[in-house]
Amino acid sequence: MTAYADFYRQSIDQPDAFWSEQAQLIDWHTPPRQVCDYSNPPFAKWFVGGTTNLCHNAVDRHLATRASQPALVAISTETDSERSYSFAELHAEVQRMAAVLQSLGVKKGDRVLIYMPMIAEAAFAMLACVRIGALHSVVFGGFASGSLASRIEDAEPVAVVSADAGSRGGKVVPYKPLLDEAIALSKHKPAAVLMINRGLAPMHLQPGRDHDWTALREQHLHTVVPCEWVESTHPSYTLYTSGTTGKPKGVQRDTGGYTVALAASMKHIFDAKAGDVYFATSDIGWVVGHSYIVYGPLIAGMTTIMYEGLPTRPDAGVWWSIVEKYKVTHMFSAPTAVRVLKKQDASWLRKYHVQTLKALWLAGEPLDEPTAQWISDALQVPIIDNYWQTETGWPILTLANGVEQQTTRFGSPGKAMYGYHVKLIDESNGEELTAPNQKGVVAIEGPLPPGCMQTVWRDDARFVNTYWKSIPGRLIYSTFDWGIRDADGYHFILGRTDDVINVAGHRLGTREIEESIASHPNIAEVAVVGVADSLKGQVAMAFAVARDASGLDSDAARLKLEGEVMKQVDSQLGAVARPSRVYFVTVLPKTRSGKLLRRALQAVAERRDPGDLTTMEDPAALQQVKDLVG
Ligand code: ATP
Ligand code: MG
Repeated sequence: MTAYADFYRQSIDQPDAFWSEQAQLIDWHTPPRQVCDYSNPPFAKWFVGGTTNLCHNAVDRHLATRASQPALVAISTETDSERSYSFAELHAEVQRMAAVLQSLGVKKGDRVLIYMPMIAEAAFAMLACVRIGALHSVVFGGFASGSLASRIEDAEPVAVVSADAGSRGGKVVPYKPLLDEAIALSKHKPAAVLMINRGLAPMHLQPGRDHDWTALREQHLHTVVPCEWVESTHPSYTLYTSGTTGKPKGVQRDTGGYTVALAASMKHIFDAKAGDVYFATSDIGWVVGHSYIVYGPLIAGMTTIMYEGLPTRPDAGVWWSIVEKYKVTHMFSAPTAVRVLKKQDASWLRKYHVQTLKALWLAGEPLDEPTAQWISDALQVPIIDNYWQTETGWPILTLANGVEQQTTRFGSPGKAMYGYHVKLIDESNGEELTAPNQKGVVAIEGPLPPGCMQTVWRDDARFVNTYWKSIPGRLIYSTFDWGIRDADGYHFILGRTDDVINVAGHRLGTREIEESIASHPNIAEVAVVGVADSLKGQVAMAFAVARDASGLDSDAARLKLEGEVMKQVDSQLGAVARPSRVYFVTVLPKTRSGKLLRRALQAVAERRDPGDLTTMEDPAALQQVKDLVG
């Protein structure tokens, strides 16, 4: 057996021994009594009886060995600033923030809602919350008042931490008016609001409720706030899923299991060591931001880079200039960002020295082969796809290069990660598919490993009913994604279970059709949806963004490219998969985290109401589609 196969088997066959060894990677105040309590499935309690603290493991623990090493570097190309904090400085700032939160009445178990741009204070606030045992609920700073209000109602925070404004592409986006409006809309009213003033937008502070961070910080420059030792099962935070398929779910995470899971992933998946430099281009409003901007790298004693700005401003070389300047060893981004770069000149990626990178990890959406190949050629560093969910907190499928170097196969996020008992389930009869190359729903047999969601915030029934199904004698967690596994254990994600279209009785994954279309040299990005058809049940319809749209200003030119694309699908997948139309747009409707909103596209293509669009990035994108389909 290979080293990784052996490691994986151990994690599945002897989970207690396996995870008790991983638990050694972190500091415990009281060691756990029991590794896993699964007496009330599907609820798993990890490291029962242990007490620890997430902030201690991310910050305090490193003071003895690396107090002066940079812990957090906050770079903003929006305000043209770079701020670096050593572990000692981070420790001081987090205690100041914790003291201020306490002075505003925040106690253990209380929720604090964080509505912030990508600035260092956002990380201070997250770390300060878990330091005192309060739960943070970070809401992506791009959300408007309606989305924010519903999250305030759900989390019922005692306090909100926010800032005067964010900035995007040089345009200031004031947050305070959105926050005021959201609080007015919400049935729950937080007692205190702590405002960070960046000097970007004027603010009105409401007396008695709103407080200025700079003034309060001054009062607590030297206040010592010790870490609150909490039960391993004490919740550390809640976070909402992206809302790609419907109403976002409030994921609740524990403390001990999450800390262990992240420490283990830094070692086994990212092959990282203390002193390495991690740059995740995500946002703290998403799970990647929680696990791999803030907590994971800090737990591992690495320097983490926080970035506010676009990947293309001041130019498309900006990320790689950061890699060069800070000698970044680990970079994490999303396929959607790579597709943005793909529309730019590839020479930007060759301008800088990026060979310090061990790899570039990509997650969040299917990484199609042409995009993987393009970025791989342009950067000349390994590209590693990884598949997971807000719910799981760390990768389900990828390569564990820290255990054994494995070869990347473009198009596949890789193998089942240790701890995840991944199965493919036949939807027609609920049975497990064991032979290779069969298509099924990607599922995980319970218990979910450490780090995964404990439950849906305040809604155990929703957790059980949404995710869990019984197959004879066992409980299975469904990811709602289709996948196949080849004979070597590499998995391929074929799309979401609700993204399957049925053309005259043939079930086709939209992902397969998208892959085929995206391999045309002039297609940068494409979304395929199934549209109701009186004759065939459904037909595939494609919406594509051209790499070079300059020649597409006439009907004839568009028809010519459409014909080429159709021919390509015919030859690669067969005529049954051929889209009925290929429409060209300049932008596709996406969530704020960069995921294609196929459900909205489909609704508009079928002339239906697209429903809840609060998580959508650019409403103009749907208007283009409406205009095209008439
Ligand atoms: P919601 O659950 O609210 O509809 P969401 O599923 O988009 O939103 P996330 O948790 O942010 O919320 O995304 C997880 C999903 O993203 C996965 O279930 C999968 O569909 C997709 N995904 C993530 N990484 C990959 C990947 N590497 N390859 C293919 N798909 C991926
Ligand atoms: Mg989901």
